Amino acid sequence: MSEEKFYFQTEAAELLQLMIGSVYSNKDIFLREIISNASDALDKRRIETLKDSELAENTNPEIKIEINTDNKTLSVSDNGIGMNRDDLINYLGTIAKSGTKEFLKSVKAENKPLDEDLIGKFGVGFYSVFMVAEKVEVVTRKLGGNETFKFTSDGSGSYTIEDVEQRNECGTTVTLFMRDSKDENSDAKNYLDEWTIKEIIHKYSDFISYPVIFKDETINSRKAIWQRPDSEITEDEYKEFYKHLTGDYSDPLTHIKINAEGSTNFKGLLFVPSRAPFDLFMNPESGGVSLYIKRVFIMNDFKSLIPGYLRFIRGVIDSEDLPLNISREILQDDPITRVIRRSTQRKIFTELKKMLEKDRETYIKFWLEFGKIFKEGVIQDKEYSKKILEISLFKTTANDEWTTIDEYKSRMKPDQKGIFCLAGRDNATALKASPKLDSYKEKGYEVLLMTDPVDEVILSDYRFMAPDADEKYKLLNISDDNVSAQTDDEKKESEEKIKALENDFEPLKKIAVEVLADKISDAKLSLSLTGSIASLTGGMSFQMLNLMRSAGHAAPKQKKVLELNAGHPVVKKLISMAKDNGEKVSDVLKTLYDQAAILEGASPDDPADFARRINDLVALAIED
Ligand code: ADP
Repeated sequence: MSEEKFYFQTEAAELLQLMIGSVYSNKDIFLREIISNASDALDKRRIETLKDSELAENTNPEIKIEINTDNKTLSVSDNGIGMNRDDLINYLGTIAKSGTKEFLKSVKAENKPLDEDLIGKFGVGFYSVFMVAEKVEVVTRKLGGNETFKFTSDGSGSYTIEDVEQRNECGTTVTLFMRDSKDENSDAKNYLDEWTIKEIIHKYSDFISYPVIFKDETINSRKAIWQRPDSEITEDEYKEFYKHLTGDYSDPLTHIKINAEGSTNFKGLLFVPSRAPFDLFMNPESGGVSLYIKRVFIMNDFKSLIPGYLRFIRGVIDSEDLPLNISREILQDDPITRVIRRSTQRKIFTELKKMLEKDRETYIKFWLEFGKIFKEGVIQDKEYSKKILEISLFKTTANDEWTTIDEYKSRMKPDQKGIFCLAGRDNATALKASPKLDSYKEKGYEVLLMTDPVDEVILSDYRFMAPDADEKYKLLNISDDNVSAQTDDEKKESEEKIKALENDFEPLKKIAVEVLADKISDAKLSLSLTGSIASLTGGMSFQMLNLMRSAGHAAPKQKKVLELNAGHPVVKKLISMAKDNGEKVSDVLKTLYDQAAILEGASPDDPADFARRINDLVALAIED
């Protein structure tokens, strides 16, 4: 029979190489991966036969494990959906997972072997067999097809596919030719040992809903974990179930159990992962939970049960009330689906809040991974926006810790007009350097440092100006012209002082507006700057403009206002120079603008000219 040779897609070949040389301590998981795939294949077959009346129902779905100690093989068979030739090439010869390229790039950049931590970030599925096997054969026949294929590979970069004798029933047999356990370090397990195999299945695959048969015995309990009482389930069982469900290799941060009884009955077992998958941020369509109806699997990644900004939540919802034969389209808008969604959402919030109150350390881990996505909800979900803000964490000028808005409130000064916020940069250290903070620092006001892109949208939305419907606690964006650290009297006083300087300032202002014509709309003297010489105010932040550009929007051409510190000796000197030495002043103004822009997160428009000006200054500074 014809045999054809193929080469693995580059990424797959690289991953295989990493697997073979893996230092992963827990090699047992290869069996979990293969059994998980078999279970998925049985799910897929069941769904197909529901859709297509021509296809006969699988009356005896099962996963069978066999060993042959003479040939040193271990095989896992299922009578699931099976694969045809294209499937073998597309699914086993290629890695479909998004983010693979980025993942491999980061592994290479770190120049590390594929250790536990790295594997944790990225499920490797089928390829994990090469940690224990020197060769693998997959014999498979697809549901409805009448050809059987054999895929063979030793993991060295290529594989073959050949036609083989017909399997009786559709499904797949994966046969592993085990590496000699004596070749490896002395504690390497013998995966052909009966007891070892049973132990691994108990540990990792007990909840698989199809029988896993070994030596004529069904060795998994098949109990749906979310149907069992909490008291019966160990923390390890939850973790293994999570890994089976998600393909994640790391433990979840926490689990949330839902047991809704009343007009709508459903059970849920949800997880907050400890790490965000690679495509979570880029892809708002990712995520979702698995839907079961009366313990029967319906679909993975169902989006309608969880709002988009909670897409990092994984898990299972099992409804008692939805009809089994409901179509996907109807399911999305079904009133029962909506009720489940609402109560699931409520429960997630309760649990997150509890975590924040009782286990801050874990909550901070959650926040670091998912806070950015979670906060998208402030904009997306009007009903929950306040609740989201309430349990959001922020960096602050007061200390290096994370703070909640409530904690901030408890530290507010009695005369404070609202909650002072500064956004526009993606890290707190950069925000802390902003000249806009000068006057707040001087008065001892604490300012929240908001580093997520969505924060700027929040600050520009009138709804959040008074999130508590209480004037005192409205969010005040200190980049806004009408927000100031000064009292009304102080403001009046400094306005008068500036007015008195206006005539003197006029020539400098004229030069500034002229040489920076395409960048600023105005130049002003300011008394709110203390340490800094210059600051840019008004308009959208550079971060926001960049975001808009990278999202393909035409970012508005906008001009800033250049504020110069009226009390600073440099500005005083410039004012007097502007009367007769225009050219030198122009250069300094350009540099002051660039410097202020850098502090705001932009880079100089003309880096060469910027460098020239700095060089001139350096030359001047070291002149004898
Ligand atoms: P994942 O299971 O995360 O998708 P794997 O590398 O484990 O990744 O498997 C890749 C794909 O190969 C699966 O998504 C599935 O389409 C196919 N596959 C693997 N094992 C089987 C099987 N026993 N029956 C049918 N298809 C399978």
